[in-house]
Amino acid sequence: MARYTQANCKLCRREGEKLFLKGSRCMSDKCAIERRQYAPGQHGQNFRRKVSAYGLQLREKQKVRRTYGVLESQFRNYFKKADQKVGITGDNLMQMLEVRLDNLVYRLGFAPSRKAARQIVRHRHIMIDGRITDIPSYQVRPGQVIKVKDKSKNLDIIHGALKMGRGDDISWLRLNKASLEGELVEIPKREDIPMTANEQLIVELYSK
Ligand code: SF4
Repeated sequence: MARYTQANCKLCRREGEKLFLKGSRCMSDKCAIERRQYAPGQHGQNFRRKVSAYGLQLREKQKVRRTYGVLESQFRNYFKKADQKVGITGDNLMQMLEVRLDNLVYRLGFAPSRKAARQIVRHRHIMIDGRITDIPSYQVRPGQVIKVKDKSKNLDIIHGALKMGRGDDISWLRLNKASLEGELVEIPKREDIPMTANEQLIVELYSK
């Protein structure tokens, strides 16, 4: 399965903000955005130019796509499906990204980052409604229960992630830390998704 394998921090520096791609490091003073808040590359510090409307749309799309760890072709497919659904296309897009299994494993606090969540899912540590599911892009439905497999409950990566204390404050998720399981209570409204993005710019970009 294709995935991005280059330096994650460069992606944040390119977008000029934290995308939280590296777990606890993102909260520390080792974060590259804290230390070098300019674009990567030889001319990152001194290269300035006026950003066009297209440039703004492109950057917003890249920011959202990179945050959720989705490749370009997958992201475009999400947009096509979001556009075909009833409702506001931008909201549909964000909701579809948000209910991906790897994202929910991250939101529930079972993984320190979405990338780690994706690996935990691929390595068959996660069950949905009692059945192992190893597809990171699986679209979780309301009422479905996501659980860490009993044999995997002592994994260091999961314990480390739980200490970061995520998952308690999201109204549309129900988390049981003792049993390491969580439920998607409902499809989140856009305003309840903790992701700062102007998805209308993405809609404009793909509607050209
Ligand atoms: Fe981004 Fe995290 Fe790297 Fe900071 S440490 S630049 S937030 S991936």
